[in-house]
Amino acid sequence: MINLTRSSLGVTRYLLARSTSLLSRPLGNLFSTKTTAADIPSSADVVVVGGGSLGMSTLYHLQKKGLNCVLLERNQLTSGTTWHSAGMLWRLRPSDIDIELHGYTRKMCMQLEEETGIASWTENGGLFVANNKERFEEYKRLAETGNYFGIESSVLEPNQINDVHPLLRTDDTVGAMYSPTDGTIDPTGIVNAYAKAAKKLGAKIYEKTGVSSVETTPSSNPQIPNASIIQSITTTGGHTITTPVVVNACGAWANELTSMVGCKIPLLAMKHAMVVTEKIEGMDPSLPNVRDHDLSIYLKTQGDAMAIGGYEQNPEFCQLDEKFEFGLFNLDWDTFGQNLEGHIQRCPAIERVGIKSTVCGPESFTPDHKPLVGPQPGVHGFFHACGFNSMGMMLGGGIGRELAEWVTTGSPDVDLFSFDVARFHKDNLGDPKWVKDRTHESYAKTYAIVFPGDEALAGRTTPTVRRSGVYEEISAAGCVFQNRHGMERPGYFVGKGEVAPLEYDYYGAYDEEGAWRLLEEGVAASIAKHEENVYEQVIEGELTFGVPVSFDAVAEECHACRNGVAVFDQSYFGNFYLEGPEALDAVQKLVGFDVERKEDGSVTYTTMCNTKGGVEADLTVLKVNEDQFYFSAGGQTCSKDWWWIERNIQDMDCKLRDVSDDTTLLSLQGPKSRDLLQELMEDGSRVEDDALEFSHGKTIVVAGHEVLVLRLTFVGELGFELHVPRNMAGDVYKAVFEVAAGEGWEGVPVRNAGYKCIDSLSAEKNYRHYHADLSNADTPMEAGIGFTVLPKLKAGLEFNGSEALNEKREEGLQRKLVCLTVEHDGGGEPVIFNGMETIIRNGEVLGLVRSTAYGHTVGKTIAYGYIDKWEGCKKITNKGLQAEGTEWQIGDRGKVWDATLHIKSVFDPKGDRIMGKY
Ligand SMILES: Cc1cc2nc3c(=O)[nH]c(=O)nc-3n(C[C@H](O)[C@H](O)[C@H](O)COP(=O)(O)OP(=O)(O)OC[C@H]3O[C@@H](n4cnc5c(N)ncnc54)[C@H](O)[C@@H]3O)c2cc1C
Repeated sequence: MINLTRSSLGVTRYLLARSTSLLSRPLGNLFSTKTTAADIPSSADVVVVGGGSLGMSTLYHLQKKGLNCVLLERNQLTSGTTWHSAGMLWRLRPSDIDIELHGYTRKMCMQLEEETGIASWTENGGLFVANNKERFEEYKRLAETGNYFGIESSVLEPNQINDVHPLLRTDDTVGAMYSPTDGTIDPTGIVNAYAKAAKKLGAKIYEKTGVSSVETTPSSNPQIPNASIIQSITTTGGHTITTPVVVNACGAWANELTSMVGCKIPLLAMKHAMVVTEKIEGMDPSLPNVRDHDLSIYLKTQGDAMAIGGYEQNPEFCQLDEKFEFGLFNLDWDTFGQNLEGHIQRCPAIERVGIKSTVCGPESFTPDHKPLVGPQPGVHGFFHACGFNSMGMMLGGGIGRELAEWVTTGSPDVDLFSFDVARFHKDNLGDPKWVKDRTHESYAKTYAIVFPGDEALAGRTTPTVRRSGVYEEISAAGCVFQNRHGMERPGYFVGKGEVAPLEYDYYGAYDEEGAWRLLEEGVAASIAKHEENVYEQVIEGELTFGVPVSFDAVAEECHACRNGVAVFDQSYFGNFYLEGPEALDAVQKLVGFDVERKEDGSVTYTTMCNTKGGVEADLTVLKVNEDQFYFSAGGQTCSKDWWWIERNIQDMDCKLRDVSDDTTLLSLQGPKSRDLLQELMEDGSRVEDDALEFSHGKTIVVAGHEVLVLRLTFVGELGFELHVPRNMAGDVYKAVFEVAAGEGWEGVPVRNAGYKCIDSLSAEKNYRHYHADLSNADTPMEAGIGFTVLPKLKAGLEFNGSEALNEKREEGLQRKLVCLTVEHDGGGEPVIFNGMETIIRNGEVLGLVRSTAYGHTVGKTIAYGYIDKWEGCKKITNKGLQAEGTEWQIGDRGKVWDATLHIKSVFDPKGDRIMGKY
């Protein structure tokens, strides 16, 4: 983190004094879209609102799919944020999805130049400069990932940096990474190219045409009272366009349009600035753009000058009105000053020149620094493409393509869960402080190293934070919480008093300058940095790509689970009932197993697929009876899962009922879990195999309370999930540990355990985590869980996705998830992977690691990732994977680790323990 210093202000005043002119004229757009209001059609397949990078790309891609599309822009094309964008595009990102989307945008720039004659792409390359070892390691990791995508890059020693960019200071660096095929998008050029190409395809674009309302009708299912369906959109000129689809590409103004359908999205406008220097001696247009993440700055090549910007620790939120056409704010030099210090440190020549212009404009930011894309939950036909967190140029092409796919087929082609609006919990969305605090933290950490063990400090204590019924109890037991989907879930236990998160203090960034802003807005009661923050100190130990401080504590939890009983608070799960006369038909249509053949009381792990056969959700379903089903969905995805089910039961006589917040889920897992549960039961019930089989559930009186018990496991042990009414959870939890402290339990480990333990044990057992191991872009067969759909497909039954899945079966696997393990480094330290490492078969890079964990009870590092076919392979089979002489390796930062392929789970491959056979 950069600290605000007084010295930076001196620098800015020096520069200001030398400044020659401030940018006063917008660039404007070159492409005239003269249309009159009278031309506006009365109907369209899709109406896109907003004529910036996102709206124009979306319009083009939708029109290309043969739809009849209209775009409305209330001012002029580009006049929101796009016109003043720096337009830099970096190809190597810590996400395979971002890499894919950025790569497509780059390709589109070139393709559109051919299609329209309008140029928008300059391939001047990109250079990432590292000021510390950890950062350099991160860059090496990106370079490794690039090998899979065929993206050229070179890792440079400090003395090689000036060969690529002679103006940079290098004595304070530890290295750099150069990516020659990065470059710069001309914002006006690309928008004009999209406009020309889209119009050629028949799209209609209307400038000076705002939106006054969006009309909806209630959902056709009266049991879903809050859902609605898009009908039409009315312009400020009074024209109504009947349409089933509206796309919100309104940038920083996107909440205005969203409010017209009665919703709110977590998007805030902030001031984001860069300044353009005067001519710099030695600067030339072919030099690469530079990012120095550690100084939180960038230097964009601008002819013989530079456009320089960065991300401050104390950004300013801003209010915008609709007339902010080609608008800019006055630059706050006190805020920008902290960037300038970094610019001068990295490129000393900047100190010797003046400033030609300043650009301080609005940009939209979100609580997790990811965009908001996809359908608005509850409003059928309303899609978002907004909230781009300063990445809307490089993501523009890719997101336009994916949104067009989403609108036309119901799902994007790549895994866009981390962009999906449904990734947030509804309670958080209604909490302005949660949204603001989280958004501040994400902005301030824009260039921070993305450590796998990092946790947010913001939004941990606001009123809408979700806590389980045993939060106080596990907190007192030394729980280190993780916040996911608005829920404080147990990460691991340190066993020494409370480590709970404190109220967000903005890292003290607002202590001095600008503190009044947040106080004035009523956002913060206090902005002073905490003198002591135990939670932050504990989390700091996790900020490494190596062995984290929690390693031994997690190991203990894992061993307790394999030898005694681990008690997991899994209240993070989403739990809901689907009920009504047509509930059975609805489930039969949604899931991959034959519901009719299942008896009441059975629980099935299943997948729900989209029309392309990709997995939209994986969850367990308890068949209570033909009219009632109980779903337990993964915590991270439960809002998305809810929305997926809801949109599929529009015309059916059934409804969903959410009981997540009323349910505390205590999971007892391990060889002694049944003995422990037996001692807790009071109504003479039995939970032996003949009374409660694996994958079945029933209601039992536990510690004096009626509890729904499901015999399930996500860690590969004999185990029982206790779904306890929230207000009774404390009693049940206490009773568990009273039994464990009693006679006969001496020497049996019974202990609290958290999600880091689950991650390790589930990796040992070949279990899937949605979004990591499977997604809307992966079929169950590719993900190695074909058993969730194959019996139903073989029986010839139809369900969502069955047609596509049957076609895929015929074709055979063209890609597949594989499991690899790696032994300790030379028999010493465990090897820690962090995802995105390359998977190598016989020397050929075939894929990337998608999820990884250290398997504490098998003593190996475990990695999962999808591989493509290799040369000469028609379809991937287990036989082919295991062919004699095949060598597997994992590549990490230029080093290669020998790996072992596992077709079955690494631990207990026969699954005996799940059945209670020890
Ligand atoms: C200083 C700066 C530097 C940046 N540098 C980069 C960079 O290097 N690389 C990168 O990828 N990104 C960068 N960005 C971010 C990028 O520019 C934005 O993410 C992108 O331009 C956003 O495009 P958009 O289409 O979402 O929004 P906008 O361009 O703001 O377009 C939204 C449009 O919607 C219109 N609108 C709003 N409401 C309505 C309504 N009700 N009816 C009709 N029209 C409406 C507005 O008038 C506006 O024209 C930068 C941003 C800034 C500020």
